Amino acid sequence: MRHEHEQSESQDATFLAGMPAGNMTAHERIKTPAAHGTGQRQETETGTIVALTQTLVTSLPPRSALLRALSLGPRLLPCMRALALYTLPDGTRGSLTLAGEVERHDDGTALEAHDVWQQRATLGHGDELDRHALDEQVSCRVGGIIAVPLVSPASGLVGVLVAEERVPAHARERHPLLDVLAHCLTVLLERHLRDEATGRRARALSTLSELAARAPEIGTGLDADIAARDAVLHTAAGALRELALPLASVALVPAPDGGLRLAGGPPDAPAQLDPARGAELLAALHGQMALTVSAGHTSGIWDDLAALREQVDQQAARITLLPVWIEDEAAGVLALAHAHDGLDERYWMPEATAIAIAAGAGIRALRLADAAAEEGRARDEFISLAAHELRSPLTSIKGFAQLLTRQARKTTMPDSMLRSVAAIEEQSLRMSEMVGELLDASRIRRNMLDVQLAMTDLVPLAQKVVEKRRAHYPRHTITLRYEEPLDGRWDVQRVEQILRDLLDNAARYSPEGGAIALEMTRVDGMAQVCVRDEGIGIAPDDQAHIFDYLYRAPMAEERNLSGLGLGLYICRHLAERMGGRLELHETHMGDEGEPHGSEFRLLLPLA
Ligand code: ADP
Repeated sequence: MRHEHEQSESQDATFLAGMPAGNMTAHERIKTPAAHGTGQRQETETGTIVALTQTLVTSLPPRSALLRALSLGPRLLPCMRALALYTLPDGTRGSLTLAGEVERHDDGTALEAHDVWQQRATLGHGDELDRHALDEQVSCRVGGIIAVPLVSPASGLVGVLVAEERVPAHARERHPLLDVLAHCLTVLLERHLRDEATGRRARALSTLSELAARAPEIGTGLDADIAARDAVLHTAAGALRELALPLASVALVPAPDGGLRLAGGPPDAPAQLDPARGAELLAALHGQMALTVSAGHTSGIWDDLAALREQVDQQAARITLLPVWIEDEAAGVLALAHAHDGLDERYWMPEATAIAIAAGAGIRALRLADAAAEEGRARDEFISLAAHELRSPLTSIKGFAQLLTRQARKTTMPDSMLRSVAAIEEQSLRMSEMVGELLDASRIRRNMLDVQLAMTDLVPLAQKVVEKRRAHYPRHTITLRYEEPLDGRWDVQRVEQILRDLLDNAARYSPEGGAIALEMTRVDGMAQVCVRDEGIGIAPDDQAHIFDYLYRAPMAEERNLSGLGLGLYICRHLAERMGGRLELHETHMGDEGEPHGSEFRLLLPLA
C-alpha cells in the first residue's frame, strides 16, 4: 500500500511538473480569459461547442473524431489547467489507461502520458466511479481535481475525464461546459471502442479462416510436420493476442516425454511442464473447450502452471487454457495470461474457442495434405514401376506385330487376318504411347524429366507429323500452313510429341470428323503453332483444368473418348522446359451456348 502511495505522489509530481511556469496566482490566471471581454469569450465558447458537436456527426473515423474532440477541450475550458482522458480497455471494469496522445496542457504542450501517470493507473471500480477515491489518489495540491465518469447507456463506464482546476479545491465548482465535453467524449469513446472491438474480431475471424484452410506445400517427415503444426499454433496464439489483449499468449505442445513444452522451440527442448504435470493438465482439459485457472485455484493446476506463469508473465492473475483438439488428441494448448483487470472473457471467449477449433482443423488439414502427398508419391512410384514392367512385353508385341504385317503382305492372306494383324500393331503402338505417357508423367512429378536441346527446323518436322496423322485419321482433313524459317533450339523428339498429341486430341475430340488446321507463324520472336479443330470443344468450367495432372473433361468421359488425362499435362511441361508455353487459345460457343471446336497454341522461342 505504502508503495502505491509513493507511486501516486511521484506521479502527481510529474503531473504538476507539466504546469506552465510563471508567478501568476491561480486567481489571476482564471481571470485572464475575462480580460478579453465576455463577448469574445462567449464567441470562442460557442465556436468550440459547434466544433465539438460537429465531431459527433462527421464521418471521421471514431478515433480521429475522439482526438479532435479532446483537442477542443482546453479551448472550451481555459479555467482548467490540464485535461486527461482515461479509457477502459474494451469492456473491462476497473483499470483505466491514460489516453496518452490526447491530453493537452492549456499552453498547448502535449503531456506525455507516461510522464503524467503510469500507463495503467488503478482508480475506482464500477459504473459509478467514486470521485473521492480518485481525489485521494491524485489529490492535487494546487487546484482541485474533477473526475467525470464517462458512462454510456449501452456500455456503462467507458472512461473518465480528469480535469485539474486552477482554483484551489475548496473553491471548486463544476464547470457546466465540462459536462458538454464529457457527454461528447462518452459518445465518441463508445464509438471508438466498438470500432476497435469490431476490427479486432474481424482480424481474428480472418485468421480463423486462414487457419482452417491451412494446407501449404509442406515437406515430408516428422520435423516438417512438427514445424508446420507449431506454425499453426503460433498463428493462433498471435490471433488470440490481438483478440483478447492478454498480458501474454503462448502455445504449448505435447513433448515426447509426455510433458508440455512451448511450441516453436527444438523438439528436444526441456518441457515447461514435466510429464506428470503435463498429463494432469491435459486430463483436466479433457473434453473441454476452455479452462480458466485463477490464482489460488484449489486443484493445484495453478501451481502446475508455475513454470508457465514465469514464462508468460509474473503478474498473471488468471490463465485461460484453450486445448487444440484433433478428435480426441490434444495437438496443443493455447494459454492466455490475463492480469486481474484484463479484458473480460465474455468479450472474446466465443471467438477464442473458434480459433482453437480452427487451429485443430488447420493442423488436421496439414496432416491430411501430408498423408495425401505421401500417397501421391507412392502412387507415382507404382505407376513408374508398372510402366517400366509393361514396356518390354509391349515392345515384343509391337515387334512381332510389325513382323507379322510384313510377312502377311508377302504371302496371300485373307483380308480379315490382315486387318487383325494391322489392328494388333496399331493397338500395341497406342499402348506403348500410353505407357510412354505414364513414364513421362511420373518423371515430371519426380522432377526427373530431361530435354535435349539442339537446332531444330519446325517445318519438316510438322510436315512429317501431319503426314502420319493424315494416314491415321482418314475422316479428318488436316491442313498445314506455315511461314519460314522456323528454327530454334528445341528437343526434336519432344516437339514432335507435342505436335502429335495436339493433332491426336484434335482428331479424337472431333469424333464426327471435320477440318483440323495446323498453322505456324512467327510472333514476337516465337514460333507460334496453332492447332484448331471443329470438335466437341471444352466447357468453360473445364478450361482451367485441362492441363492438370490426370484431368479429363466430363464431356470426353461421357462420350466414351478414351484417354488418360496426361497428354496436355506433359506437353505443357515440355513446352515450358524448352522456354515456351502451351495454352488453350479459345473454344468456340455454338448458337445454344454449347462449346464447339477448340484452338491450342504452342509457342517456342526462335533461334
Ligand atoms: P487425354 O488423354 O484424356 O486426351 P489430355 O491431357 O490430352 O488427356 O487432355 C485432357 C482433356 O482435355 C481431355 O480429356 C479432354 O477432355 C480435353 N481436351 C483436350 N484436347 C481437346 C480438344 N481438342 N477438344 C476437346 N477437348 C479436348
